[in-house]
Amino acid sequence: MYDVAIVGLGAMGAAVAWHASRLGLSVLGLDRYEPPHTHGSTHAETRITRLAVGEGDHYIPFVARSHALWRELEALTGAPLLHQSGGYILTDAAEEADRWTDFTMETARIAERAGVGYEVFDAAAMRERQPGIVVPAGAKVGFEPTAGIVMCERAVAAQLAQAQEVGAHTRFGKHVTAIEPVGDHVRVITDGSVHEARHVVVATGPWTPELVPGTIAERLSVTRQVVHWFEVDDLDAWSVDTFPFVMWIAGTIDDYVAAFPTPPDSAIRGVKVLGEQFDATTTPGQVERNVSAEEIADFHRRLVAPRFPGITDRSLRAEVCLYTNTPDDHFLIEADPRSDRIVVMSPCSGHGFKHSTALGEAVAQRLATGGSDLSLEPFGLAS
Ligand SMILES: Cc1cc2nc3c(=O)[nH]c(=O)nc-3n(C[C@H](O)[C@H](O)[C@H](O)COP(=O)(O)OP(=O)(O)OC[C@H]3O[C@@H](n4cnc5c(N)ncnc54)[C@H](O)[C@@H]3O)c2cc1C
Repeated sequence: MYDVAIVGLGAMGAAVAWHASRLGLSVLGLDRYEPPHTHGSTHAETRITRLAVGEGDHYIPFVARSHALWRELEALTGAPLLHQSGGYILTDAAEEADRWTDFTMETARIAERAGVGYEVFDAAAMRERQPGIVVPAGAKVGFEPTAGIVMCERAVAAQLAQAQEVGAHTRFGKHVTAIEPVGDHVRVITDGSVHEARHVVVATGPWTPELVPGTIAERLSVTRQVVHWFEVDDLDAWSVDTFPFVMWIAGTIDDYVAAFPTPPDSAIRGVKVLGEQFDATTTPGQVERNVSAEEIADFHRRLVAPRFPGITDRSLRAEVCLYTNTPDDHFLIEADPRSDRIVVMSPCSGHGFKHSTALGEAVAQRLATGGSDLSLEPFGLAS
C-alpha cells in the first residue's frame, strides 16, 4: 500500500511526486503517456511567470515559492529552468474598465500590496523601450523586472527525476480507468493493474472531466489553444537577454496575444507567440491537433503583423495545447465528493504553471502532516 498514488504526471502531478517523496511518503505516480509529452497542457517549451499576479492576491505566495523551488531544482539538476528576463503587461485603451481590460492597473495594485517591483508607463515610453513593437496611443504598460519564463517540459522532467531519485515509483503508459474509495484507502485501477494507496491525487489536466465525473467535471471546460513559432530576421533581439515577454490585452479575448523571449537552448530558432479562445470547447480525445496553413496565416495577419512587424509570417511550428477552465478562471483543488482521501487538482485555467511546484508542495505537505505552509483554501481545499 502506497501513502499516495498520483494519477497524471504533468505539471501538477510531477510537482506532487517530487515534494511528497522528499517528505518521506511512499509515492506511486501513474501516467497514460510518458511525460513530459505534447498531448495535454504542459508543452511548447516555456511558460510565463509573474510575481505580480493580476489574477488575485492569493496567488502571490504560490508563485513566489515556486520561483524559490525552481532555483532549488536548478541547483539539484544543473538544468536552467527560470529566466527572469522581465515581462510587460500591455492593455489597449478601453471604453470600460473590467478585470481584463484593466489588467495592467489591477496588476499594479496587487504588486503594490505585495511589495513587488512593477512600473507603469504610457505608449510613448513603451515605444522608446521597444521600438520594434507598434503600440497604439492610449495603451497602458506595466513592467515587472522579476517576471520571466519557466522551461515547462524540463521542469516536469526534473521533478520526476528528483522524485524517482528519492524513491518514487513511476509507471508510464498506464491509463487509469477508475478510482474507488474502499474503507480506509483508495483503489486505483488501470488497464492492466490495480493499486492501493492511502491517498490519491488526481492531476489529469484536461482529462479530469472523464475521470472525475459529477460536480467537479461539470465546472470544467476544455478548450483548444494554438502556440505558434515564427521566424525572425534577428533572433538575438528576441532572446531572454534582450526581450521581456509581452502579454497584450486588447478589447476582447479574441485579440489577446502573448510573445515570448527565446531561451538560449530552444529547439526552435524563432519566436513563440500565442492567442487564446474560449468559445469552442473540446476534449483531449476529440480535439483537432492539426493546425492548418489558413489558421496560421490568419493568426499572423490579425494579431502578429500589426503589433510585431519584426516577426515574419514564415511559420516554423504550430502546436495545439489544452486549457482546462473553471467558470471564474480560478483554480480548482478539492476533495472528491466521494472521499476526502482523493484530492483533485485542476489548476490550469491558462495560468497554472507558474504556481505549480508550490501547489504540489502544499498538497504534499497536507498529505504528510495534515496541514500546509501555504493555505489551499482559496482554491477549494479547506484548512
Ligand atoms: C497554450 C498554453 C499556454 C499556457 N501558458 C501559461 C503561462 O504562460 N503561464 C502559466 O502559468 N500557465 C500557462 N498555462 C497553463 C499551464 O500550462 C497549466 O496550468 C499546466 O500545464 C496544467 O498542468 P496539469 O498537470 O494540470 O495538466 P497536464 O500537464 O496536461 O497533465 C495531465 C497528465 O495526466 C495524464 N493523464 C490524464 N488522464 C490520465 C489517466 N486516466 N490515467 C493516467 N494518466 C492520465 C496525462 O497524460 C498528463 O500527463 C498555459 C497552458 C496552455 C495550454
